[in-house]
Amino acid sequence: MADVTGNSDSSTVVPPVADRREELQTRLHGVRERISSAVTATGAREPTLIVVTKYFPVSDLRILADLGVTAVGENRDQEASSKAAELGDLLQWHFIGQLQTNKAKSVVRYAHSIHSVDRASLVTALGKAVTADQQARAASGDPERAQLECFVQFNLDGNAVAGDRGGALPADATALAETLAGTPGLRLAGVMAVAPLGASPAAVFEDLRLISETVRRVDPAATAISAGMSGDLEEAVGAGATHLRIGSDVLGPRPGVR
Ligand SMILES: *Cc1c(COP(=O)(O)O)cnc(C)c1O
Repeated sequence: MADVTGNSDSSTVVPPVADRREELQTRLHGVRERISSAVTATGAREPTLIVVTKYFPVSDLRILADLGVTAVGENRDQEASSKAAELGDLLQWHFIGQLQTNKAKSVVRYAHSIHSVDRASLVTALGKAVTADQQARAASGDPERAQLECFVQFNLDGNAVAGDRGGALPADATALAETLAGTPGLRLAGVMAVAPLGASPAAVFEDLRLISETVRRVDPAATAISAGMSGDLEEAVGAGATHLRIGSDVLGPRPGVR
């Protein structure tokens, strides 16, 4: 996966809101057209579009919500939690980045789903955090919270070994899916992967589709497949993706990222 870290300088000139709205509208329209064409070409079901807003300001998220975007993806808890604190229920929050267990408590407060669950220790931490959140809400008379939707992320780089960051090994699919499905507070939604740099996205997403079948043997309701970014959404739709995570083709190049 591309290096998406390193957001450092904030010297980017922020364009006037009206221009930005026009730009986002045009880009979003283009992405929606690409998705429609891919759906028509393959006879696939229309996937859910998650616009990946990492590094972009809250003002952009407001515009996106106004343009009909309902779900956004973020990959750092600090950034996501402050955006969610400001925008709350205006958008549905999908956490798509590597997650440390000590961030579980924070993430479950705002996240609708986590696309990057890749190890048993994280499953345990998320389960505990959701349960604690449920108890806190009950104690203060707040409305009940839904289960946290979790996708098991797989590392589909053929050279990956156990313990590599950013995804479980396909060989661990059944065990991890069973752990997740058996954890109170969590719902096993399905599978997720990022096509490794240099790999054929079509081949990678076909592998993911097969892993999805394995996971569905654990829970037939775990039908979600989170796959496809700006550069490979067509291949992902062709392989049955139910959730696309599109960043730069909607928002433009990420600030400070080269
Ligand atoms: C940043 C990111 C995306 C979006 O990538 P684009 O190429 O900008 O569309 C999708 N998924 C994950 C996990 C990401 O970190």
